[in-house]
Amino acid sequence: MHEVSIAESILDLIERQLGAPQALAEVELCIGPLSGVSAESLEFCFATVAKERGFGVPGLSIQRTQVVIHCDSCLETYSVDDLMSFCPHCNSWKRTIQSGDELQLVSASLIEVSHV
Ligand SMILES: [Zn+2]
Repeated sequence: MHEVSIAESILDLIERQLGAPQALAEVELCIGPLSGVSAESLEFCFATVAKERGFGVPGLSIQRTQVVIHCDSCLETYSVDDLMSFCPHCNSWKRTIQSGDELQLVSASLIEVSHV
């Protein structure tokens, strides 16, 4: 499954930062509509993969971004949820996609170990 390998690579990244797997409280991701990643599938498998790898059962918070498009005709920048939209300012189809394919690790927080 595609999303399992994505969960693995996110955890690889966190493990590299931490040096070793540690119990995580929450992982925050940013996913664009053009990334080809299903946020729902990722939410579904993430906790299982994390637990197997020794990261505990972290919550997953996903920010969904929009596609940002620069219109080559009127030079306006606009955001859409999908690509089947013309420029809202001039109805042009001539454009440059600026973002929307991101899959980013925003943050990962550790469960705080309380010292008695
Ligand atoms: Zn335009």
